[in-house]
Amino acid sequence: MGSFSVMTPLAVTRSDSYEHEQVVLCQDPSSGLRAVIAIHSTALGPAVGGVRFHPYATDEEAVADVLNLSRGMSYKNALAGLDFGGGKAVIVGDPARLRSEKLLLAYGRFVASLGGRYVTGCDVGTDVADMDVITRVCRWVVCGSPNRGGTGDPSGPTALGVLQGMRAAAQHRWGSSSLRGRTVGVAGVGKVGYLLVGHLVEEGARVIVTDVREEAVRRVVDRFPGVLVVDDTETLVRTRGMDVYSPCALGGALDDAVVPVLTAEVVCGAANNQLAHPGIGRQLVDRGILYAPDYVVNAGGVIHSVAGLSGCALPESVARVERIFDTTLAVLERAEAEGVPPGVAADRIAEQRLTAAARSRAWHGPGRPAGS
Ligand code: NAD
Repeated sequence: MGSFSVMTPLAVTRSDSYEHEQVVLCQDPSSGLRAVIAIHSTALGPAVGGVRFHPYATDEEAVADVLNLSRGMSYKNALAGLDFGGGKAVIVGDPARLRSEKLLLAYGRFVASLGGRYVTGCDVGTDVADMDVITRVCRWVVCGSPNRGGTGDPSGPTALGVLQGMRAAAQHRWGSSSLRGRTVGVAGVGKVGYLLVGHLVEEGARVIVTDVREEAVRRVVDRFPGVLVVDDTETLVRTRGMDVYSPCALGGALDDAVVPVLTAEVVCGAANNQLAHPGIGRQLVDRGILYAPDYVVNAGGVIHSVAGLSGCALPESVARVERIFDTTLAVLERAEAEGVPPGVAADRIAEQRLTAAARSRAWHGPGRPAGS
C-alpha cells in the first residue's frame, strides 16, 4: 500500500459556491489505512457524514468523491433543518480484504484528532459493527449498536423519510397524500428498498420490484407475496401504469436513456445522486415528471443519527424524520413558484441557510466581542 500520490483536488471544488474548510489525508502504514476526511462546512455546526470504504481506482477519484459527498452532506443537513454541517470520509481499498480492527482504530484516532469538527458514521462499505470498533477510540461517532448506546443502522429512518417524501409528492401531484391504489416501482430492494416496500404495502400501494440480486428479490416476495417482480430496471421504467418510480439502488438512475421512456409521473427514491447530470432535472420537468430531490427525501438516516447525539428520544426522532413530508412539499411548491426544477429549488433553500449561518458566524465568530 503506497502513500498518497495526489494531490491537486481543490480544482474539483472550483465550481462550488462554498469551498471546503478542511481536507485531511490520513495514513497508517502498519494497518494499511489510507483515508481522506473532508469537512465541507461547519457553518451550521459540527460536520456530519458517513465513512465510505471503497476500492477507488485512483487517489484522485477518492478525493473527488469525498469532496462531492461532503458538499452534498452540507446541503442535505441544511435542508433538513439540522444544526450540523457537512463532512464525509473515504477509506481507500476493498473492505472485503482490508477491513481490520487495527485499521478501523487507526481511522477512529484520526477522526478523534479533529476534536469534534467531524462526526463519522456508516456509509457504503461500513456498518454498525465497524462503528462500535471506532467508538472505542473516538466519541464523535453515530450509527453504533443501540445496545451500546448508538443509533444503529440508519436504513429504517431513511425508508420512513422516503415514504414521507413520496406522500408529499403525491399531495403535490394528485392533491392527496394517500398512496392507496397507486403503483410504485422500487428498483433495488436492499436495506432501504426492502423496508420501503413494507411501508408501501401497509399504505395499500401496488408494488413492483427489481434487483440484480436474486436473494434480495426472494426476501421481498417471501415477506410480501402480493408484490410483483420484473426482470430488470430497464423493464421497470417502461412498465405501463406505474405512478411512482423509486430508485433505491445506485446513483445515476435517471439518465438520457431512462427519462424519455419513463412511464411514472413521480420519481422519489432513496438512492443518492439520482440525476446523471444537472440537465436531467429540466428534462424531467419538460416531460411533466415530478422529481422529489434525492437528498431531501433520503435525509431520514442522518436526522435520526444526529438526534441520538443530542440524546433525543425515539418518538421525537421519528417525528423529526416525518417532517420530511413538509420539507419536500416546500421544495416542490417553491420549484413551481419559481419555474425551476425541484433540485434547483432545494439547492436554493439550502444555500440560503448556509449563507445566513456563515454570515452570522463571521459576525459573532471567535475574536469578535459579543454585540460588536
Ligand atoms: P444496499 O446495498 O443495501 O441496497 C442496494 C440494492 O440495490 C442491493 O440489493 C443491490 O443488489 C441493488 N442493486 C444494485 N444495482 C442494481 C441495479 N442495477 N438494478 C437493481 N438493483 C440493483 O443499499 P441501501 O443502504 O439500501 O441504500 C440504497 C441507496 O440509498 C444507495 O444509493 C444509498 O447511497 C442510498 N442511501 C441509503 C441510506 C441508508 O440509510 N442506508 C441513506 C441515504 C441514502
